[in-house]
Amino acid sequence: EIPRVTGVQTCALPICKMLSAVIAPLSWNAAALPASASARAGSRAAVDMREMLIAGNWKMNTLLPEAVSLAKEVAEAAKNSPCDVAVCAPLPYLTAVKDALKGSKVGLGAQDCYADADAGAFTGATSTAMLESVGCDYVLSGHSERRAIFGDSDEMVNAKTLKILKQGIKCILCIGELKEERESGETFNVLNTQLTKGLKGVDDKMMKEIVIAYEPVWAIGTGLTATPEVAQETHAYVRSWFTENYSDAIADNVIIQYGGSVNAENVDELMACPDIDGALVGGASLKGESFSAICNFKKK
Ligand code: PEP
Repeated sequence: EIPRVTGVQTCALPICKMLSAVIAPLSWNAAALPASASARAGSRAAVDMREMLIAGNWKMNTLLPEAVSLAKEVAEAAKNSPCDVAVCAPLPYLTAVKDALKGSKVGLGAQDCYADADAGAFTGATSTAMLESVGCDYVLSGHSERRAIFGDSDEMVNAKTLKILKQGIKCILCIGELKEERESGETFNVLNTQLTKGLKGVDDKMMKEIVIAYEPVWAIGTGLTATPEVAQETHAYVRSWFTENYSDAIADNVIIQYGGSVNAENVDELMACPDIDGALVGGASLKGESFSAICNFKKK
């Protein structure tokens, strides 16, 4: 039984009516946030302790030569970046991209894995053992496209998350609400369910290898970025969830990335939010220039 989050108010503006590239602030009653969220949001001491991670998700894009040259550009751009950087490349290019990243600080990520076996008669599947053997540092779990297109349930996401961690690879667990869920005030309940189910069996020690990517589904690939206010409020909720369900120390240390139409123009504002610790970037990670600008966002 997953406890429902109470007191979360419906957004003031229906998202479907928002036509601008940047969504106008949606408002909740800040008092509806658990006390720990409002108290911890903005706590600079905690912010300074946390690492930041900018990761590119190339999805099913690029051909081999393009993937290799993009990886080289990212390796160069990461030299001056104030945070950790990673690229989640398509499976066929993992080895080539790893080579292109050699000597750089850029981590290699995969976009998915198979949870139920290390090897065997599972045509088309890729095990975490295979991903480890080609040098993956990260694997995504629960990306909204896997959930929506490939039917990954919260239980499957949990199985993948546990398998990735067991393999000794860091897991970027993606969570986020649909447009209708935000409009009907269900955002926190949806995130609560995804976190509760997705992290089942993940103990305090394993949490060190988890990165959370909060990605509102309505903002992915749409050009509709959450305003910093909306993103910050939701990140504060997610961080408070870790206080309630793990501990203050875990809440203070967990990296919570924002994802959803992050680009070179909006990254500085988003990264200035105290509970946003980096970004998971789709479209804008496919161009060296824009991803370089994102990796080298200006600290406000
Ligand atoms: C993503 O795929 O995780 C994503 C955030 O995509 P985009 O940046 O294109 O919205």
